[in-house]
Amino acid sequence: MAVLSERVQHGLESIVGDRVRVDRVERRMYSADIGEMPRLVKPFVRAGLAGGVVRPRTEAEAVALVRFAGENSLKLVPRGASTSGYGGVLPVEGAVVVDLSGMHEVLEVDATARTVRVQPGLIWEELARRLESDGLALRLYPSSTPSSSVAGWLAQGGAGFGSYEYGMFKDNVASARVVLPTGEVRTFTGSELGTLIADAEGITGIITEVTVMLRDLEPEVHRLVAFTDALALNAALRDISIQGLPIWSITFLNPESTGLKKKLPHRHGHPYEEAHSHYEPEMPEAFLAVIAYPESRTGRVDNALAAIVTAHGGSELPKEAAEHEWEQRFAPMRLKRVGPSIIPTEVVVPLTELAAVLREIDAKIHQPFVLEGMVGKGDRVVLLGFIPHDSRTFAFNAAFALSLSVIAIAKRHGGAAYSTGLYFRREAPTVLGADRVRALTAFKAKVDPSGVMNPGKVLGRGVIDLLMGTASALEPLIRPIANLMKPPATVKLKDRRGIPADVAYYAYACAQCGYCVHTCEEYSGRGWMSHSPRGKYLYLREVMEGREKFDQKMVDTFLVCTTCEVCNTRCQLQLPVEHSWMTMRGKLIQNEGRMTFPPFEMMAASLRGENNIWAGKREKRADWVPEDIAPKIKENAPVAYFAGCTASYVNTDVAQATVRLLDKAGIEFTTLGTDEACCGIPMKVAGRWDVFEEIYLHNTAEARKRGVKTIVTSCPACGLVWKELYAQLAAQRGEPYEFEVKHYSELAAEALADGRLVFDHEVNKTLTFHDSCHMGRAQGNYEPPRDLLKAIPGVTVVEMEHNREEGLCCGSVLTLIGDTPVAPILGRMRLDEAVDAGADAMVALCPCCQVQLRDSADKNGIDLPVDDLARVLMEGLGLHIDSSSANSLLQWGYFEKFIYLMEPEAMADLMAALLPEMMAAMPAGMVPMIKAARAIPGGLALMSKMMPVMMPMLVPGIMPKVMPAMLAEVSRRVGPLPDDMEALMPDLLPKTMDALMPNMLPLLIPFITPKMMAYVRNDL
Ligand SMILES: Cc1cc2nc3c(=O)[nH]c(=O)nc-3n(C[C@H](O)[C@H](O)[C@H](O)COP(=O)(O)OP(=O)(O)OC[C@H]3O[C@@H](n4cnc5c(N)ncnc54)[C@H](O)[C@@H]3O)c2cc1C
Ligand code: SF4
Ligand code: SF4
Repeated sequence: MAVLSERVQHGLESIVGDRVRVDRVERRMYSADIGEMPRLVKPFVRAGLAGGVVRPRTEAEAVALVRFAGENSLKLVPRGASTSGYGGVLPVEGAVVVDLSGMHEVLEVDATARTVRVQPGLIWEELARRLESDGLALRLYPSSTPSSSVAGWLAQGGAGFGSYEYGMFKDNVASARVVLPTGEVRTFTGSELGTLIADAEGITGIITEVTVMLRDLEPEVHRLVAFTDALALNAALRDISIQGLPIWSITFLNPESTGLKKKLPHRHGHPYEEAHSHYEPEMPEAFLAVIAYPESRTGRVDNALAAIVTAHGGSELPKEAAEHEWEQRFAPMRLKRVGPSIIPTEVVVPLTELAAVLREIDAKIHQPFVLEGMVGKGDRVVLLGFIPHDSRTFAFNAAFALSLSVIAIAKRHGGAAYSTGLYFRREAPTVLGADRVRALTAFKAKVDPSGVMNPGKVLGRGVIDLLMGTASALEPLIRPIANLMKPPATVKLKDRRGIPADVAYYAYACAQCGYCVHTCEEYSGRGWMSHSPRGKYLYLREVMEGREKFDQKMVDTFLVCTTCEVCNTRCQLQLPVEHSWMTMRGKLIQNEGRMTFPPFEMMAASLRGENNIWAGKREKRADWVPEDIAPKIKENAPVAYFAGCTASYVNTDVAQATVRLLDKAGIEFTTLGTDEACCGIPMKVAGRWDVFEEIYLHNTAEARKRGVKTIVTSCPACGLVWKELYAQLAAQRGEPYEFEVKHYSELAAEALADGRLVFDHEVNKTLTFHDSCHMGRAQGNYEPPRDLLKAIPGVTVVEMEHNREEGLCCGSVLTLIGDTPVAPILGRMRLDEAVDAGADAMVALCPCCQVQLRDSADKNGIDLPVDDLARVLMEGLGLHIDSSSANSLLQWGYFEKFIYLMEPEAMADLMAALLPEMMAAMPAGMVPMIKAARAIPGGLALMSKMMPVMMPMLVPGIMPKVMPAMLAEVSRRVGPLPDDMEALMPDLLPKTMDALMPNMLPLLIPFITPKMMAYVRNDL
């Protein structure tokens, strides 16, 4: 059962509405976890492609899903964030994945009982953030806190930071509500919870609520201690335990881990990294223990700990190094970047045996072995180890057996594998204990006799168990061979199945950890994995493995990323994620000639003809310049203000206020005047890199003509282009590039600091500042705009929940153009935060953010003005500039109509209205032939089959002839346009159609064919 029947699909839709997907790409995205099985082992694994994916939002929906599954012999697989790696979340072929990430609310905080009741899909990071405001903290959390879910940890089981004091997660859960496979909802507590729900990997039901025990939030002390060998580390840890030091968390790294980290490429050469340079302390290649405890316990810990460290020859490292390691605690897979793959292994061993285990691993594993340990309550130590390798090589298959060697070593020392899942079911008696396995088996037989819930996990036997059993038995024989199977000494970067070499490497290196998922603007506006960075890298891997091929839908998915760069800040491997999608745009559109978002083609036509994207006239580009400022603008000057299209034609208040500000600050400047062209970013993100290159040549030449050395922008995207993208292109072309780039807010803040700018007029408002992605994350400019606002008398600046590096994207340009209905959803998320912060207005400095946020406020009925920073600063100087808000909405309105008009269905409708003109424009003899075909039985059916062949041959000849009628029809549909736009249309529309039709026709044909046949039958 590869795909669900239509009947089942409709049944699921009747439960969760449009939160169902059955397309192959999405099914694939939800049929993976973080693990990577060797190619030779995969055929033996009982996991396949999901039949569908559903995203319930309520417990009632979960109940209905379970009942529906029972009645229709479906299999269900609960899924949290899929950050586990034991196959527990992998569906059997045709199963329905129940993605619980949409159930993510905090339901109740009980500060007295110190508990919180939450929905299952809530991510730990979000919960911790939410608890802070109540003075509460998590007792323990996993190192996957930035992505994993609360119920996922309960179902998967495990230890984390804080386990030294609090034990396993399940010991810190007061209760859990579970939808059993019968459809009954039951609350589990105590030993029943620990036996039947915890570590059960969803085989006994869907967890829909969890009540988690908490502790008080307290300042913490973090210490970093180096030990020369495993023996010293082990002895010190034992003394800490014996003396009962009230420590909260103890974790450690092995020397190889520190050594390899030094080889990590920290830079990927983008300004983002310069803006976010990370402090990297010099670490000794030793066993490094990271110890954390509440500040209130220093009296009971500090001296005793110091004595233990000294007694075992340890040395404490500086505080900054300790804080750095602490901050890095959520990046345990960072070293995958040097892989690009890893061979993982996870075991639990007694503390007493730690040194012996580590020594044996050292003696028996002859490949680089990265190890992190977590000391748990009851002197149990979780060891997470991995060997960096390359899954693309044959050697990976054999080397993978070393993961079993580590399990064998652990077992010899009284330890066990860490988890069961799909791959280690045969280890269930040692992982869970024989009694629990018996209890689980009996319960499962009672509530789920037909195996609806997550079949094949934890219990049962199959080929994979036989394979694992045989491999374990032969481990001593296999190990020497596995040790010889090293990855290539240097990783070769090469294109793979058309995926550019660097992106191909990143796709394999991506740990699939999911840190980038819920914070991704593209994902959060839609909720489907294919729209997340994790999903896209996975998809690229599938393309490279030959299992997927790009279609227009996936091209659009890569194009529609907002370029917000949140993913770059979230990625624990520090991959240049957003830059990967930029590379893919060039590959898909420029190199392969696929279709970009249609409105970009109209922009390209406008740009090539008129130098701007708003279909304004080139000679009017500098009309915004205030009369009194015009004479002050130099013909030539080292500094040029580059206004950009939106500030020149739409939000002219931005440009006007900026030049006044520069003038007030005493800065002499020139502009490129009517010779300025769009910076080109729309063409870069559209993948039209040919047009981008033309623009680069034009703008840099114009700037050089005027002796410009510094470009000042108001639009952050223009700034990013001049700073990064032109510079890159110049380097590619082997040309010098001399321009320095500044945002006006940086210059104004400097002028404020040295007294050239003084705000002397009160503006009595509470304002919040929206960090534009291209200004903040991409260029690291956060404080100057805030410093300026705060300097205005009467202004109170309040911060939104997400600000600076974490600031939410407005959801602009690519969403507006590529998926217009999603844009107000994203805009609303930003605006709501401003309202919650109590702001009278949101201040933004990016003209494009302003267009989007104003449009979103309008569409969502949110009464919050969106003002421009420079315009507000003018008020502080006692100057008034009319807001362009109304014009911004008006101009966007025209644009939006064109966007909708260019959707395939609407375009087909437009062409259908032109059928009489199209017939008249056909080559001689065509119409009689069509009429003859109409007279023959079955002739029309044959003709409709031939449309995909005929249309591409006919349309290029027909289009010029029907253009006058098409222009009239467009005018009728879009309504009256501004004069200049109307005047330019006869030039823009034919060029747009020429560029679009080769790619768009196949998408139009399914819509236009029935209309054409009806016309031929009835009206021709
Ligand atoms: C970088 C990184 C660090 C990690 N660090 C740790 C760590 O410190 N400690 C640790 O223990 N693990 C760790 N893990 C493993 C993993 O993150 C944890 O097991 C995590 O708790 C899984 O949560 P999840 O939401 O991703 O669950 P998933 O992976 O989605 O699911 C795990 C299992 O639970 C089941 N399940 C999920 N949700 C439900 C539900 N609502 N009802 C019933 N069953 C459900 C699934 O079917 C599956 O069998 C780490 C992983 C990564 C990538
Ligand atoms: S740049 Fe933003 S929208 Fe694009 S993938 Fe990254 S996080 Fe998502
Ligand atoms: S892109 Fe980075 S953060 Fe996202 S899943 Fe991959 S490794 Fe994790």
